[in-house]
Amino acid sequence: MNVLLKKPWILDRQLSELNAELVAEGFRDYAARQVFQWVYFKNSQDVNSWSNIAKANRQKLAGLYDWELRPVLDRQDDGHGTRKLLIGLADGQKIETVLIPEKDHYTFCLSSQAGCPLACAFCATGAMGFRRNLTCGEIVTQVLSLRKELGAYAGKLNLVFMGMGEPLLNYANLARALRLICAADGLNISPRHVTVSTAGILENLKNLEADFPQVKIAFSLNASDPQLRAELMPIARKERLEDLLAHLRGHKRRQRITFEYVLLAGINDSPAQARQLAKLIQGIPSKVNLIPYNATPRLPFRRPTEVAVESFRAILLEKGLTVVTRWSKGEGIRSACGQLAVFGGSS
Ligand code: SF4
Repeated sequence: MNVLLKKPWILDRQLSELNAELVAEGFRDYAARQVFQWVYFKNSQDVNSWSNIAKANRQKLAGLYDWELRPVLDRQDDGHGTRKLLIGLADGQKIETVLIPEKDHYTFCLSSQAGCPLACAFCATGAMGFRRNLTCGEIVTQVLSLRKELGAYAGKLNLVFMGMGEPLLNYANLARALRLICAADGLNISPRHVTVSTAGILENLKNLEADFPQVKIAFSLNASDPQLRAELMPIARKERLEDLLAHLRGHKRRQRITFEYVLLAGINDSPAQARQLAKLIQGIPSKVNLIPYNATPRLPFRRPTEVAVESFRAILLEKGLTVVTRWSKGEGIRSACGQLAVFGGSS
């Protein structure tokens, strides 16, 4: 709920909630579904143009809710199709969201919080500090704005919660947004095309798996030695790696886990660390995404050489793991993995 707005925001409403409110206002019980079709299927915010709704009802609807997407304040393109949007929220906070072209689809990289409280040592968002959780609508507005960027494109979309914030620390709003994203009468995106990336918040990981069993999980691992991991990711002092791995090993799921491993030169990229990583995740149906570090001002880390990245990868392959090296796109516009931050931009 946006406290500064007088009218409730339509993107914060589930279909059943909207239906109850509209019926109480005297609308027929199919009105909410008509509204959802315009908002989510047609991505239209212009209530006056909704031709299958009577004019008097359109005027009434216009006065009941805030229908607007949150404004795109800035747009940066890396020249190869990766585009970063800066979105302004009603209370002056700002968030970033990224469109990434792939071979046969587009990926939307979404934010779940303004800033992040977890302060991972290598992450620009973590360095920015925590402002607040995003509402359901503030998550969904990113998807609708990114869809507008694509015009008439109607092909496959992949949604990844890998932007600003730790999604599982904002589980209630994430779950509401996922319902709108995946519902047939909402954005109708298959949960199999949605990935939630987490630093490891075990209780809400279990909730996510129970509520959305088809959503893919990416686990931000980054170090196989618990002490080094706790230095890089302070949350690891609270959420123990062995408990998380025991859960990942024991819980039956349809999709493989993705282990994300940001490679930092001289910190976690040695051959011994590659062997330790392989041993740690042995037996968990998974793939490993190696992400050579994307340099960020003010942070003291360096990207390993291509040779070091390749030899780390070769050791994992030799141990029978599935490995993908992700040379991030959008580095030039600071939209690559771990680079999203709105320094000094928020109130
Ligand atoms: S890597 Fe993810 S969890 Fe860690 S500080 Fe950055 S946004 Fe937060």
